[in-house]
Amino acid sequence: AKEKIRQQCNDHYVEDPQNLEEQAINLVGPDMYEKLIRGYTEKQWGRPCTELPAFIIRRIPVRFTYDNNYFYDTYQGIPTDGYTAMVERMIEGIEVKLHTDYLEDKSYWNSVAEKVVYSGPIDAYFDYKYGVLGYRSLRFETEVLDMPDYQGNAVVNYTDRETPFTRIIEHKHFEFGTQPKTIISKEYSMKWQLGDEPYYPINDRKNNGLYQKYKALTESENNVIFGGRLGEYKYYDMDKVVGVAFRKAREVLG
Ligand SMILES: Cc1cc2nc3c(=O)[nH]c(=O)nc-3n(C[C@H](O)[C@H](O)[C@H](O)COP(=O)(O)OP(=O)(O)OC[C@H]3O[C@@H](n4cnc5c(N)ncnc54)[C@H](O)[C@@H]3O)c2cc1C
Repeated sequence: AKEKIRQQCNDHYVEDPQNLEEQAINLVGPDMYEKLIRGYTEKQWGRPCTELPAFIIRRIPVRFTYDNNYFYDTYQGIPTDGYTAMVERMIEGIEVKLHTDYLEDKSYWNSVAEKVVYSGPIDAYFDYKYGVLGYRSLRFETEVLDMPDYQGNAVVNYTDRETPFTRIIEHKHFEFGTQPKTIISKEYSMKWQLGDEPYYPINDRKNNGLYQKYKALTESENNVIFGGRLGEYKYYDMDKVVGVAFRKAREVLG
């Protein structure tokens, strides 16, 4: 496999790739590109790979093993009883207000707190004065099926162009559920507009430039810390976002 991929990369190498297709073929050759990357990427971004910029994939992790974990991390897992239970235990005894939009009464919240950590969209904080940052969104279709097991796995990705969804999540496999029924969610990539749930930042040059303008404004917001995937307009995995939060806390608390 290694030899085949190397050979294909050599045969199809393009100097200075101009789009995602050329870049991907440089990295893994045409067979892997067609089978695993093209359809999935076009669904994710809603555009042909030839019209997507090359810089979206600088690197494609390729491994020649039977390890089908998505990540490389030594320790991987889901908290016992799920995240809701874990977070409930973490915030026990701490006052939490739900369904409260900080931006609707910013000056009040700022007056009751010495420091505010704002994890919402950075452009919303500044009332979109320079324009709206772009995202991709997702739509989930959830079904209850009258069978104990649908796909034998928590996540199955559909990398072809014809299947309209990108993956099916079968929730019970995260906790080895033994229920007689099963719940699956089909995940569809979707165009985002203001008001939809922002999922994936589109870190192209235009949006990154816009983000930098907003970031410059945060300098004068002395008591507000902008953090997280929306506050920093950056895709973060959970461990990464927790890591940044720890570092920031150490920096602020000394
Ligand atoms: C489909 C999908 C799958 C993912 N899968 C994985 C995975 O398998 N593994 C992994 O490690 N990571 C995964 N992630 C990434 C993970 O979800 C993020 O790393 C994590 O949620 C980032 O945390 P955060 O605190 O920055 O942002 P969020 O979790 O989005 O939290 C921000 C919070 O701020 C609140 N907020 C925003 N604006 C306001 C406001 N004006 N007033 C009050 N509250 C406000 C929001 O309601 C929200 O609760 C996935 C992300 C997506 C979209």
